[in-house]
Amino acid sequence: MSRALKNLSSALWAFAATFAAAALSASVALWGHWPGIVPVALGGAVAAGGGVIVAVRAWRSGRTVQQAAESLTRSAQRIGQGDYARPVETYSQDGLAELEQAMERMRARLRQSTINKDYLRSVLNSMADAVFLTSPDGVIKSANAAACKMLGFGEEELLGRGIASLLEEHARADFDLLQAAQDTRETVIRTRDGQTIPVSLAGSRIETDDPQFQGNIFVARNITDRKRAERRIRYLARYDTLTKVANRMQFQHVLQQTLSRGLRSGHAVALLYLDMDRFKEVNDTFGHDTGDRVLEVLAERLTRALPPNAILGRLAGDEFALCLHGLPAETDNRVPIGQLARAILNEVARAFQLNQQEVFLTASVGIAFCPRDAENVIDLIRNADAAMYHAKQNGGNTFAFYAPEMNAAAVERLILKSKLRRALERDELVIRYQPKVELASGRVVGAEALLRWRLPGHGDIPPSRFIPLAEETNLILDIGEWVLNRVCMDYRQLKGAGGEPGRISLNLSLRQLRQASFILRCRSVFRRHGVSPTALELEITETTLMADTKNTLRLLEELYAMGLHLSIDDFGTGYSSLSALQQFPIGTLKIDQSFVRDVGVNTGNATLVRTIIEMGRSLGMVVVAEGVESQSQLDFLRRNGCTQVQGRLFGEPCAIEELLALLQRQSSSGAPFSHLLHPAPGALDQPA
Ligand code: C2E
Ligand code: MG
Ligand code: MG
Repeated sequence: MSRALKNLSSALWAFAATFAAAALSASVALWGHWPGIVPVALGGAVAAGGGVIVAVRAWRSGRTVQQAAESLTRSAQRIGQGDYARPVETYSQDGLAELEQAMERMRARLRQSTINKDYLRSVLNSMADAVFLTSPDGVIKSANAAACKMLGFGEEELLGRGIASLLEEHARADFDLLQAAQDTRETVIRTRDGQTIPVSLAGSRIETDDPQFQGNIFVARNITDRKRAERRIRYLARYDTLTKVANRMQFQHVLQQTLSRGLRSGHAVALLYLDMDRFKEVNDTFGHDTGDRVLEVLAERLTRALPPNAILGRLAGDEFALCLHGLPAETDNRVPIGQLARAILNEVARAFQLNQQEVFLTASVGIAFCPRDAENVIDLIRNADAAMYHAKQNGGNTFAFYAPEMNAAAVERLILKSKLRRALERDELVIRYQPKVELASGRVVGAEALLRWRLPGHGDIPPSRFIPLAEETNLILDIGEWVLNRVCMDYRQLKGAGGEPGRISLNLSLRQLRQASFILRCRSVFRRHGVSPTALELEITETTLMADTKNTLRLLEELYAMGLHLSIDDFGTGYSSLSALQQFPIGTLKIDQSFVRDVGVNTGNATLVRTIIEMGRSLGMVVVAEGVESQSQLDFLRRNGCTQVQGRLFGEPCAIEELLALLQRQSSSGAPFSHLLHPAPGALDQPA
């Protein structure tokens, strides 16, 4: 009898302890949202304690009590082992009946809270993201299965560690717990075996008045794939895919750093500008593929001939540049650099094997020094270019050092600049519109306004030649305002004639955006013409966007609040990261035409374009591909979910009248480009 009572008593205490522990861990797992569970746990413990007193009373009533006590012991042991499924038997008439009922009530409650707890645990453990629950000072109190898997630790090894201790050393130095608990950031964690994983870490505070449940929740998502894609985008954006050397942008970037270093340390830098002679003939005679092969071989030869202090880049088509740093400033470097130029020309002069024939080619090289000839990238390249032009004028296959009188091009620029000043007064600027076509329907859903300068005696001068000049002075501000006015007037005209122009986009220069009164001016133009800002879209290049992010963000938010739609132009050519772009209120991503151009033939660019489309769409943006010239490019873009396209396949940029005619045709007979969206199977690639 006393043994049965002892068994019952210890089973009941084990039961009470299990109940309290299970309920407490349930409430932790429920993240403080179930305050009712703790009273239940305490109630359980008290009821169990009370049960012992009742049992003492029952002990006096003999044999039946002994049976009841044994049955209760079994129930309590079962429950103590976490088996809450079977009800407690309640066959006592007196004595232990009260205890049996109390225990049955507890079992039922315990079962319910365990179901809640298990459910939440399984939800957390099914999540693909790592979840950590911490105390207010960042000590981990709970971690889900994904967290353990990501880090390679068991949950018990994580408990008690500071959340910051999971981060890689550099990331840890930048980590601020208070800040991290209320934002989302990119950081790097270190796993048990020393591997680093880039993650997006979202923190939030647990809002509860009960101090024991206060703390933070951190959700870490592995962003390795996105980072890899971003790196790939950056690589493809900085290196020429054909020759694998730095492209123009990257070369200029490196040259800029080299010049600054040289100027600081008192060393000279030489820039060699190489252009193949009559390369057009190679392309015309053997085709572009063969031309490309020549450039590939040439880049390999140049790379091999480079001294260790040289950097090579491909500036355009058949133009390469070579920069040599660390040259002594006080000596004349012309002799050794002249020898290098000769060695390079000899490399070029070795036979190329083209279609089983030996072909001999030559090049011209222009050389300029920093600081002697120029102290900045733009001037240095321009001067080396002028020297190269001089070498070419002398028959090619030679090199020339820059001399100030060679700079006829600079003189021409000056003349052009002074003429540009009068272009506005003389009404020499015109706008051309390039339709934007929606890929799902083949409909024209907007157009981009592109500026032209009709200089009498020179024909149409493209913006690439005069916008940079206008940007050097404040002229771009007047030109920009003229464009905005013109576009608003044209928009009214299109609407008045019954055209549905969709959204008209115009290009914005960095200087315009920086103009203090830019927003005011925009507002007044819209008011004057009675055009809603929602009818327009501003295209801002990626480089402009990243120039002064804080100010730009403020400005863009104001423009966006006005109702203007904003887009990133020439995406892929800048240095921004997608996460940096996310902060701007941008609705459209325009993929630069240099990437679209050879999606069909260059798998690197195809991957890049596909990645940009995917990323843009995952950020909820409209993705526009520029420079679409062929059916195969169009098919590729359609297959990969691009939203809109523009390019020669749909016609050259045209006058407002032609755009209106196109829109009217669309209103009466439907989407003008739908035939391009249903190419016959096996249709040939036909450039427009
Ligand atoms: P963007 O904004 O990237 O404009 C697209 C350029 O690609 C235009 O050159 C357009 O004519 C050209 N293009 C269109 N379709 C094709 C195609 O199928 N193949 C090829 N190869 N090219 C195509 P455009 O008109 O010479 O303009 C050059 C750049 O000048 C523009 O690049 C834009 O950044 C700038 N720009 C044009 N108008 C303005 C303006 O009003 N203000 C400012 N600030 N910049 C402007
Ligand atoms: Mg544009
Ligand atoms: Mg563009």
